Amino acid sequence: MTQQNRYDLLVVGGGINGAGIARDAAGRGLSVLLCEQDDLASHTSSASTKLIHGGLRYLEYKEFGLVRKALQERETLLRAAPHIMWPLRFVMPHMPNLRPAWLIRMGLFLYDHLAKRELLPGSRGIDMRRHAAGAPLVDSIRRGFVYSDGWVDDARLVVLNALDAKEHGAQILTRTKLVSARRAHGEWQAVLRRPDGSTFDVRARAVANAAGPWVGEVLHGALGRGAQHSVRLVKGSHIVTKRLFDHDHAYIFQNPDKRIIFAIPYEHDFTLIGTTDVEYRNDPAKVSIDGDETRYLCESINRYFKRKISPADVHWTYSGVRPLLEEEGAVNASAVTRDYKLELDDAAGAPLLSVFGGKITTFRKLAEEASGLLCRALGHTAPSWTAGAPLPGGDIAHARFEPFAQDFAKRHAWLPAALARRYARAYGTRAEHLAGSARSLADLGAEVAPGIYEAELRYLRDAEWATRAEDVLWRRSKLGLHVAPGTLDSVAAAIDGWFAATSATATAQH
Ligand SMILES: Cc1cc2nc3c(=O)[nH]c(=O)nc-3n(C[C@H](O)[C@H](O)[C@H](O)COP(=O)(O)OP(=O)(O)OC[C@H]3O[C@@H](n4cnc5c(N)ncnc54)[C@H](O)[C@@H]3O)c2cc1C
Repeated sequence: MTQQNRYDLLVVGGGINGAGIARDAAGRGLSVLLCEQDDLASHTSSASTKLIHGGLRYLEYKEFGLVRKALQERETLLRAAPHIMWPLRFVMPHMPNLRPAWLIRMGLFLYDHLAKRELLPGSRGIDMRRHAAGAPLVDSIRRGFVYSDGWVDDARLVVLNALDAKEHGAQILTRTKLVSARRAHGEWQAVLRRPDGSTFDVRARAVANAAGPWVGEVLHGALGRGAQHSVRLVKGSHIVTKRLFDHDHAYIFQNPDKRIIFAIPYEHDFTLIGTTDVEYRNDPAKVSIDGDETRYLCESINRYFKRKISPADVHWTYSGVRPLLEEEGAVNASAVTRDYKLELDDAAGAPLLSVFGGKITTFRKLAEEASGLLCRALGHTAPSWTAGAPLPGGDIAHARFEPFAQDFAKRHAWLPAALARRYARAYGTRAEHLAGSARSLADLGAEVAPGIYEAELRYLRDAEWATRAEDVLWRRSKLGLHVAPGTLDSVAAAIDGWFAATSATATAQH
């Protein structure tokens, strides 16, 4: 169906689940429109701990099915986008008073064997007095364990899914909100609102509600429907400090309250520490860390590291709201399942599929199931296809990033080494699109802000829906973390100025 403003599927929400569903459905031949009220990955999907993980601690809640599903996805995703994802080794110091060694060994054995592993090494015990990861830790920690999981740039993962959806024919509208939708004559008639406040109508044979923390609001408000399932909103916050250790392993620390905290090498110069779990009842768009959470995270770190940190060491923070599937009997937030449920309502002809819960790690599976259900409900036959398909820029030979990055740097020897590496990491094989036919730095255009040249901004604007500085500095990249102290506002103003000037030129030329 290709008539203007008429689609097979309207996807509401440009977080990882909406972008994943749009990609999968477009690749199966459905005409798809995705609307996101803010920027892609503005909310939960850029506020995660950024782990592609089975979730070792979920074994304690006997969530074997979820852990297996997530473990299976690790290697599938590592192959699909080796530029923005990579294997990460985790060090767990042994604290006999918290969990006995036999329990941890058993958990890690299960973790190693619940799903097939080819790229990731297995777990083992370590002597902290000999291992590099022992050096920053307090001397009382003598033993520990090492195991594997994966790391992902969550916000870029969303953008790459949206880009792949677009390349399979989907239309992606950012800063466009679904205001209302009603079933009429066997289809959905929806009203969307543009950034300037004006509205327009679209029709769709089906709707996918992937609004994350807003899933209930969209269902009951915009769509005027009820649902069997609901979500429980749980705030999670992270702090970022200057680098606390010099090796490339991450730590998983157990707290006396049984929760676990990660300390992860982040953006080369930093350490990412999180997360908290706090029940949340306010507007998901206004979530932010509070003093108690900052203190809790600092204390967790201070229990383990020789070097102590305080709130004054915090360089940056971010918070997100987990839209967790509400279950009977789960009392505390940490115990609520991280699994998802898809609810299909096709009683009145035009199908409506709502997504409750989920993890970044399982988004591809979730999208595959969601798109399969929608295709069946629409009478459309097309097989699933994403399991072996690379994401844009991820078509790197044998999923081996280092040789690719070295080759890219060699072929663009005029690029400063750090910039070549950053482009290779962020854009994978698409870094070629950005560099284009440039033969010198001058060919990349003006340096709009330190290390940010016009060619990159053009690419982000034309291919990745960036429209302002915060999209560039905090989601398409984390360059905001690296600007010189006290210059963030001027850097943002320069980039915003560039967007304003180029959009004015584009308008004048039309
Ligand atoms: C602190 C924290 C740590 C986490 N760590 C991990 C981790 O390490 N690994 C992992 O696998 N998972 C992790 N998760 C879980 C994961 O981040 C979430 O499950 C996932 O991001 C949810 O994605 P989503 O697309 O459902 O929601 P979102 O990313 O919130 O996307 C929903 C989108 O819908 C949009 N929207 C809402 N209403 C409308 C409307 N009316 N019109 C248009 N658009 C609308 C919103 O603007 C939003 O962008 C973590 C979550 C949190 C909070």
